[in-house]
Amino acid sequence: MYDTVVIGGGPIGSYVALRLAEKGHRTLVLERKSRSGEAVCCTGIISRECASAFAIEDKVILRQVNSASLFSPSGNRLSLWRAEPQACILDRVAFEISMAERAQGAGAEYHFNSLVKDITTGSDRARVTVLSGGKGVEIQTRAVVIASGFASGLCSRLGLGRFGDFTVGAQAEVKTTGTNEVEVYFGDIAPGFFAWLVPTTPPMARVGLMMRKSPGLYLRKWLTLLAAQGEIASAEVELCYGGIPIKPLPRTYGERLVVVGDAAGQVKPTNGGGIYYGLLSADIAAETLHQALEDNDLSAKRLGRYERGWKKKLGRELKVGYWARKLFERLNDRQIDRIFKIIEAGGIDQALLKAEDLSFDWHSRTILRLLRYQVVARAMHIIKLPFGSGRIDL
Ligand SMILES: Cc1cc2nc3c(=O)[nH]c(=O)nc-3n(C[C@H](O)[C@H](O)[C@H](O)COP(=O)(O)OP(=O)(O)OC[C@H]3O[C@@H](n4cnc5c(N)ncnc54)[C@H](O)[C@@H]3O)c2cc1C
Repeated sequence: MYDTVVIGGGPIGSYVALRLAEKGHRTLVLERKSRSGEAVCCTGIISRECASAFAIEDKVILRQVNSASLFSPSGNRLSLWRAEPQACILDRVAFEISMAERAQGAGAEYHFNSLVKDITTGSDRARVTVLSGGKGVEIQTRAVVIASGFASGLCSRLGLGRFGDFTVGAQAEVKTTGTNEVEVYFGDIAPGFFAWLVPTTPPMARVGLMMRKSPGLYLRKWLTLLAAQGEIASAEVELCYGGIPIKPLPRTYGERLVVVGDAAGQVKPTNGGGIYYGLLSADIAAETLHQALEDNDLSAKRLGRYERGWKKKLGRELKVGYWARKLFERLNDRQIDRIFKIIEAGGIDQALLKAEDLSFDWHSRTILRLLRYQVVARAMHIIKLPFGSGRIDL
């Protein structure tokens, strides 16, 4: 019998497997794809903070960035710049392979082409039903980690509920004619959300957007425009899509099981980034499981410590970020333009940069500080924040 079966060999599943295998637990990763890094749809931007906290290997980092330009609907530009690199752009496929290799190096087993269909939990073990090579197989384990990303219906079938909210991202790899910094666009390119152009290895870039409906349609329109403006070589490129949870699952643990990463909805609601928050939560999941396996107490009550732990770390960020996201969705182009002008004219961007509040990962402080500027809050028609101070419960 395994100590832990991890469902999903994406970056977060592999990281939990790595941490558990390092502690000596017999760990198996079940992955429905035929190999690591197959069919990944992700821009792969993470902060320097994330890269160093999780020892992301240099060989999977395509480039580092220390600046970004934000464009308002009418083309006003806010340039954010710092002397030191703030973020890394990953070779996302190599990153996933590297995480799986690290886990395997620590002793975790991987079974590919293994689609998990069902999980049942009993008093002394969990049973995982896997479809592999056309056959149903049952695997027994003391504990289960669900790290199956956005699409899996396993969590709702186990009574853990569904994501409170989600969007969809669409992306394409394009050949550019010289873009050298991260660009983010607001307005009718991606109404209510935003679009991005992220250079990778010259002359290539990742162009994408996230939206609630028809992201493919909007991305095609934008690609056509970029091609017509001569910014990319061709609009005839393949698109990939991925669901992005922006409000977490109501419950991320149960008898003998925990849920991590995108499967749990541990994603920044502001921009859909899930790698760092997923890895931070994976650390908490692995530590909670390690202790629970040692004490042979895998009850839901004991594993509830995991949820309390990750909410303590990320709960406020997710709550404030989601509130800001919903507020932003209500703004029209005119209001967004006005906010850009106010920020620029008042030097607010520079003040935020100087105050070190502008963090790639921790957005709540920036959001709250920004709204403390009455002139910004008024432009957004906010008179009173729903949370001025004190605790914010998820
Ligand atoms: C267009 C787009 C751009 C993005 N850009 C960024 C970015 O720049 N930065 C960032 O931090 N985040 C970004 N994200 C989010 C990021 O991709 C995810 O947060 C991250 O991949 C989550 O990792 P994960 O391991 O939880 O899930 P996944 O990467 O989705 O991995 C889940 C794995 O589980 C497997 N699986 C699913 N169901 C089963 C099953 N039943 N049985 C067996 N295996 C199963 C899947 O095949 C998959 O390999 C982006 C997302 C999209 C859609």
